[in-house]
Amino acid sequence: MARIEIKNLYKTFDSKNTAVHAVRNASLTVENGEVVVIIGPSGSGKSTLLRTVNRLEIPTSGEIWIDEEDVTKPSVDIRKIREEVGMVFQNFNLFPHLTSLENITLALLRVKKMNQKAADDLGRQLLTRVGLTEKADVHPAQLSGGQQQRVAIARALAMQPKVMLFDEPTSALDPEMIKEVLDVMLDLAESGMTMLLVTHEMGFARAAADKVVFMDAGEIVETGSPEQIFEHPANARTKLFLDHIL
Ligand code: ADP
Ligand code: MG
Repeated sequence: MARIEIKNLYKTFDSKNTAVHAVRNASLTVENGEVVVIIGPSGSGKSTLLRTVNRLEIPTSGEIWIDEEDVTKPSVDIRKIREEVGMVFQNFNLFPHLTSLENITLALLRVKKMNQKAADDLGRQLLTRVGLTEKADVHPAQLSGGQQQRVAIARALAMQPKVMLFDEPTSALDPEMIKEVLDVMLDLAESGMTMLLVTHEMGFARAAADKVVFMDAGEIVETGSPEQIFEHPANARTKLFLDHIL
C-alpha cells in the first residue's frame, strides 16, 4: 500500500479576479520508504502540490490519501496530519526567541504532552543526530543558516512523522552550507524515511531519489527514475528544463 497517494489533484487560486491554475490534474504515488524528488521551473506548482499534502493548502479538487486516510475531506484532524507529516521550509521558520532545544521540544511538551525531562532527552538526541550536540542552548540568530536548517529538520523529526516534506531546503543557504544539510537528508533517506521534496540539487536527486517528478505549468509532465529523467527524458519540456539547469 502506498504511503501517499495523490489522485487527480487540482488547486486554483483566485488572484485579482483571475484564476491561477497552480496544480492541474496531478497524480502521484509515494511508497513507504521512498524518496521522491519534484523538480521544475519556478511557478510550476511544486510548492503548492507539496503544501496540499499537510493541508497548508486546501485542494480545489482531487484526493490525497496518507495511508488509509483521505486528508482532503473536510472532517480531517489537521493537527494529526501535521504530526504525521513533517515539513521543512526554505527559510527554516524557527522561533527566534527559543533556543535550538526549545524549538525542538515545544511541540513535544504542548502537543505530545511529554514531560520536560523526556522531551529534553529526545531533543538532545535529535540535535546529535543532525550534528549539533553543542548548540542546544543557543538561539537561531547565533547559528549559521545550515545549522538553523538542521535544527528545523530535528524539530520536524521530533514528532516522529510518517512522512517528511522538504520545500527547497537548501535554496536559502550559502554554497558552503548546502552539503551539511544534504548530508542530514541523505542520512534520513538511508534510514528509511518516506520523503517528498522539492529541490534544485540534482546531485542529491541522483544519489537519493527513487523517483524524480518533473512539473511544468501546474502539471506533472514526467515521472521516472533519476536515470530515466536525467539521462533519457522522454518529454521535450523536461529536456529543455534540464538543458537550462545542468
Ligand atoms: P513553485 O513552487 O513551482 O515555484 P508555486 O506552487 O509556488 O510554484 O506556484 C504555482 C503558481 O501558483 C504560481 O503561478 C504562483 O504565483 C501561484 N500561487 C501560489 N500561491 C498562491 C497564492 N496563495 N495566491 C495566488 N497565487 C498563488
Ligand atoms: Mg516553490
